[in-house]
Amino acid sequence: MTKVLKFGGSSVADATAISRVLDIVEAEARDGKIILVLSAISGCTDALLSGEENALEKIHSRHLRIIGRLFTGEQKDAAEKDFEGLFVAMKAAPESERVTFGEIFSTTILARKLSCEGFRTVWTDSRKCIVKGDIPLTYSRIREAVADDADIYVAPGFIASTPDGIPTTLGRGGSDYSAALYAAAIGADSLEIWTDVPGIMTANPKKAGAARTIPLMSYSAALRMADGGAKVLYPPTVVPARDAGIGFRILNTFDPSAGGTLVSGEDSVPGWIGVADREDGLITLVGGGLEDPASAVDRVLSALRHSGIQPLSITPIEKDLTLQVSPSVIPEAVKTIHREFFESAPVRNIRIFIAGAGAVASALLETINKSASQIAERTGKRLVVCGIASSKLSLVEKGGLDPSTAISALAEKGDSLPFVEKVLKEESEGAFFVDCTDSHTIYSDYERLLESGFGVVSSNRRSFAVPFVNYAAIRAASLRSGSPLRYETTVGAALPVLESISRSANASDEIVSIEAVVSCTLNRILSEYRGDESFSSLVLKASRDGITEPDPRVDLGGGDALRKLLILAREAGIALEASDVAIEPVTGGSLDGLSIEEVFTALEEREEYFAGLYHSAAEKGLKLRFTASLERSADQGYVAAIRLKAVDQRHPAYHLRGTENAIIIRSAFHPYPLVISGAGEGAGEAASSLLNDILK
Ligand code: ASP
Ligand code: MG
Repeated sequence: MTKVLKFGGSSVADATAISRVLDIVEAEARDGKIILVLSAISGCTDALLSGEENALEKIHSRHLRIIGRLFTGEQKDAAEKDFEGLFVAMKAAPESERVTFGEIFSTTILARKLSCEGFRTVWTDSRKCIVKGDIPLTYSRIREAVADDADIYVAPGFIASTPDGIPTTLGRGGSDYSAALYAAAIGADSLEIWTDVPGIMTANPKKAGAARTIPLMSYSAALRMADGGAKVLYPPTVVPARDAGIGFRILNTFDPSAGGTLVSGEDSVPGWIGVADREDGLITLVGGGLEDPASAVDRVLSALRHSGIQPLSITPIEKDLTLQVSPSVIPEAVKTIHREFFESAPVRNIRIFIAGAGAVASALLETINKSASQIAERTGKRLVVCGIASSKLSLVEKGGLDPSTAISALAEKGDSLPFVEKVLKEESEGAFFVDCTDSHTIYSDYERLLESGFGVVSSNRRSFAVPFVNYAAIRAASLRSGSPLRYETTVGAALPVLESISRSANASDEIVSIEAVVSCTLNRILSEYRGDESFSSLVLKASRDGITEPDPRVDLGGGDALRKLLILAREAGIALEASDVAIEPVTGGSLDGLSIEEVFTALEEREEYFAGLYHSAAEKGLKLRFTASLERSADQGYVAAIRLKAVDQRHPAYHLRGTENAIIIRSAFHPYPLVISGAGEGAGEAASSLLNDILK
């Protein structure tokens, strides 16, 4: 068993650090032969390169201090004598060769120390073994040099010679490479690169405080991290190790029991590996595969945008993504990219197919466009819009559509093939069909979608106000397939109404009554109506503001309230049918058979009736509310009704403003009703409620 251990400059910086190295080496020497490759003590190479008298003097005294701490008596004298001789030789050497002495200083001291500790130690002159540019010769010379029966070979890193025999170096940081050459030459059992950080990290921890050690990575990813600027590893190190099939570990001298980073094998870790940066502003996001760098471009750009950074360029290169930023923003950019890719749970794509291209769909797309990154950070789910359809056109794009232009893309690239058929051809795992339409037939597609594994999220209340058998079939399909079916948006938009009811129902708490003031349109009209201005003009205004159904009779006649009541009742486990509900339209009589214009004329003719209702309530201090209610009757059945009701101050619906909703649920377990009230309508509310259903 032969191991190659390499220690960097800070691991041999002073006597205390060296004693840690000795502990590690002595422990490992028990298992077999060791080749110990060392850097110069930290700062030494810089001092030698500067040639400055002052700097050289400091280096001189630091070595003497180390010797003074490591040795006593004769050994100390001998070590000092050795060192002084080398120091003189360094000063006499040609300027270009002086830099090679740092590693000679450190290794001669350590070799002497190890032999004092009783190890058979051989100092190996790397200048003789490593011939720059000639790998075969280098390998055969190394093999010869370490063929003795020693316990520990101590070899200077960094230094080599030219083919002509002139001392030279392998480049700054080159000791890692020296160690890899020694390991590859002899087919070492292991190669350990001991340094002052805990391995290759997901980012430079000085820039991204949350950076963590990458436990395992491929040769190629390590090379790309090192090339990208991760200073912990000298890039050329990787090649000889990989070619010889030697996995190597990067370990922390100051925390020897931590696992560090093992570099070995092919890319096997999917997803992103780490982010490296260079002083010149080049940042590399290194990938291991699977996640497509091209699709990460948006993620990087939007994360940087939030930090106010505009990269100069961004380029996917094979598994990586490189970007150029102005050097002054490197720390912030690295921190931002690290946060986006490494500081949250692994992000899973949730693909969504949106049926509908009206106000709700637009609001949903807008929210996704604005918040997809934050949502991903918070929930670990990234929303990708993979399809959209209007009543005429449909478009499915596997790779995802830009949410900010999805609707115009639909107009440009959509065709008239049925949307649901296209969706059914797509992968259903992690996919949602989102019904933002007002269609009364689309419910018949839900079953197939659910059975195929698509989640269905809907704001379309018509789908759940169908005859009870059809409603039950949709619910059953969801139960059978395990595909989620969620439609919280259908009643009270973003208010958690259905959830509250199903919680009671699931806990076997019997619903005694539900009272719902859920017609936003009528709430607004009734709260504005004072009995003096005309009722019909308020309806007209509401219709122009787009808050009535296209046909205002649906609101006035209780049709919209009826759908909501059916959904509420069914959520409570009551098989309510439309025919079970007694409806008294606000209009005080039927408006059937009229055109929409005629509806407004008919309303004008009833102004006196409306004024009468208002005044008789107002005299008693009551307010008019359009109420859908369900109440358990004496025979254990339920009575359902929709009508105008005059409510007093103590009623939760008394204080509603504008389009607010109130739902009052009384149950057997609870002495006081559960009252849910608040904004009950608006495209924005609907979009946020749909999102919640998708992310649940
Ligand atoms: N001592 C050399 C340098 O500082 C080589 C090394 O430490 O790897 O660059
Ligand atoms: Mg180094």
